[in-house]
Amino acid sequence: MTVPPPIAMLAELTHRCPLSCPYCSNPVELARAETELATEDWVRVFREAADLGVLQLHLSGGEPASRRDLTDLVRAAREAGLYTNLISSGIGLTEARLAELDAAGLDHIQLSLQGTDAGMADEIGGYRGGFVRKMQVAGWIKAIGFPLTLNTVLHRRNLHQLPRALEMAEEMGARRVEVATVQFHGWALRNRDALMPTREQAKEATRIVAEARVRLKGRLVVDYVPADYHSDYPKRCMGGWGSTGLNVAPDGTVLPCHAAQTIPHLTFENVRHRPLADIWYRSSAFDAYRGTGWMAEPCRSCDRREKDFGGCRCQAMALAGDAGAADPVCVKSPHHAALQARAAAHAAATAPLIHRTAPGRPVPAEPVVG
Ligand code: SF4
Ligand code: SF4
Repeated sequence: MTVPPPIAMLAELTHRCPLSCPYCSNPVELARAETELATEDWVRVFREAADLGVLQLHLSGGEPASRRDLTDLVRAAREAGLYTNLISSGIGLTEARLAELDAAGLDHIQLSLQGTDAGMADEIGGYRGGFVRKMQVAGWIKAIGFPLTLNTVLHRRNLHQLPRALEMAEEMGARRVEVATVQFHGWALRNRDALMPTREQAKEATRIVAEARVRLKGRLVVDYVPADYHSDYPKRCMGGWGSTGLNVAPDGTVLPCHAAQTIPHLTFENVRHRPLADIWYRSSAFDAYRGTGWMAEPCRSCDRREKDFGGCRCQAMALAGDAGAADPVCVKSPHHAALQARAAAHAAATAPLIHRTAPGRPVPAEPVVG
């Protein structure tokens, strides 16, 4: 098959973060600061990405503002010709730092929202005072005039705040709001009993988003990631494995998606040792689930196979024990009924939040899954 170049690259600059969200998509084993790529490594990787055909660079983490060289990295990415999007909780961004980022050419900011009031946001983020600080940062972003996307992660505890989150996006002057129901990977997988929305909540969120899309048309774009455990078909993960995007982890490991290291039989290359283009076009991990040739039934003969590419490989691994299986979210998967029953059980359970830990700190034990 002919492999097109990637459009977007997610650069996870660091796993360090002042917050400790219980749904963090970072791996449970976090990269320590001393293993992170150095400034000059990232600059080289940005040039390699641009040469490969990448257009958009998403600077993420952890919290990318935890990197002291963030402004230098933005400047280097712009010099390489990349469109730069900073994905941040806001903590660590000062007014002066935002002005520097603006001068360095930063194109866009995506600000995360853990809740619409201090009580919720600070409890979920595990950081007292975080909400007040974030509101201050949102004000500076608006004053400078950065194009803004507000990213709100919703789950059982805060789904009732969705209408207010939409209002806040408008008040902040955002052009886009991403309403993302929590995806159960990484730390979220350990928090299903605490965070799984009910089916009724998921349906209500879909209704609110549909109504908001009509009401806000022309003012605010509403992107929506529904609660997939309550869905009948999986989402097209990463636009299809190895088709449009790639992730570079803090230590330089190149991944087809942020959770790919949960698939134990795959071997991942590192930009310290191999050029990015070589990894994209000629590495076993990127080839493993590209296109449709790897599929087994029911995906192989399904008329949706080029629409969703069988869903998420990491979710198939986590829930069906086979990364080559149909995503268990799919009604055609033999695991679908069990998944729906499990979703209902998680939604009815009560459990304390397990916040993510800092890199190098002991990882809490995995709860027993019912
Ligand atoms: S999800 Fe929360 S803890 Fe994880 S990187 Fe984002 S802000 Fe930090
Ligand atoms: S069978 Fe496979 S390709 Fe078809 S809808 Fe389900 S996951 Fe998608």
